[in-house]
Amino acid sequence: MKDLVSRTVQQLQPSGIRAMFNLASSMEGVINLALGEPDFITPEPIMQAAVRAMAEGKTHYTANAGTLELRRRIAATIHRESGLSLDPESQIIVTVGGMSSLYIGLRTVLNPGDEVLLPSPGWTNYEGQIELAGGRVVRVPMRKEDGFTPRIEDVEKRITPRTKLIMINSPANPTGAVCSLQTLEGIAELARSHDFLVLSDEVYKHMVWDENRHHTIAALPGMFERTITVNSFSKAFAMTGWRIGYTFARQEIISGMVKLQEDVTSCNHALSQEAALTALEREGECTADLVRTFSERRQILTAQLRECSQLSFIPPQGAFYLFLNISDSGLSSQEFALRLLKEKKVCLVPGTAFGPDGEGFVRISYAAATEKLLEAGRRIIEFMEESR
Ligand code: PLP
Repeated sequence: MKDLVSRTVQQLQPSGIRAMFNLASSMEGVINLALGEPDFITPEPIMQAAVRAMAEGKTHYTANAGTLELRRRIAATIHRESGLSLDPESQIIVTVGGMSSLYIGLRTVLNPGDEVLLPSPGWTNYEGQIELAGGRVVRVPMRKEDGFTPRIEDVEKRITPRTKLIMINSPANPTGAVCSLQTLEGIAELARSHDFLVLSDEVYKHMVWDENRHHTIAALPGMFERTITVNSFSKAFAMTGWRIGYTFARQEIISGMVKLQEDVTSCNHALSQEAALTALEREGECTADLVRTFSERRQILTAQLRECSQLSFIPPQGAFYLFLNISDSGLSSQEFALRLLKEKKVCLVPGTAFGPDGEGFVRISYAAATEKLLEAGRRIIEFMEESR
């Protein structure tokens, strides 16, 4: 049969994270630090809310944009965090994870051939999502000297009349970088003066370390009108399997996203929405343990890796990733990750899975138990010393 699978889908590249994960799954005794998923289970009050909702028969479709009660709670949360006053009826949509927020957000604003500025290295799925939505990826390489945050002149150089949008991810996967207010102001200035949009992926906003601060670019002057902000319950509430996230943006964009959501998934899972409502109502209590634990693990892992002079890294500022510079090994990041898996049974993700600008690095997810992290760190150092 000819052309069974569309050319668009044929051209999609499988995620480099999954590839490593699948390889590791076929081996015994591997310490897997490849997946970006908390090792915690969802906090009890959130689970109880879903159980209660089920017993009360809340098992139906909800409004396409999500229950109004949840959207009101999201509006209150965003107001508390950033001062933005959102209309829950028209400026918020609840989606099937941050992933579908990203995809339907892009699909809503991109026309075929529109250029999307993509800071690189960046999360693996952005490229596929931009292409599926008809956009053309224009990479903006980020430099390790800048702590892997976008340099304004590097962004500016790549702006053309076809530039429709820039992707921002802070705190970032895979680098753990957090954009300073100054960087966000620089990007905002470019967006306003060259008239393009910003898609700000803030799914790791709860995890910001040391003196770093999370800033919502939509709250900067004149930016709400041109920003699509994506959030998720997956990471800080350990709710990856509940598949729930949300977006806020101006009414025209949200109503486009709601139309799309109606055609694609209709709405988010009713029980997940009830669970998410409790998550926001009891946010501090539900996130404190996980956030504190991840911060402690970060300190333990960084202290250990610092002992090896051939390894270097920029101390993670947020999220739960450490982007490790392995260039002293003389191996490419792909070779390093494959050999580390085969010889030391530690699964990491090669930096090039996040774009060519990730060469020389591997990503460690420290969302894993401390003993596993320490043992993995020991094996990484051993491998590094042997490979020289
Ligand atoms: N954005 C980033 C940067 C991520 O790392 C992830 C998940 O790994 C997501 C979005 C999507 O998260 P979810 O769809 O589980 O909400």
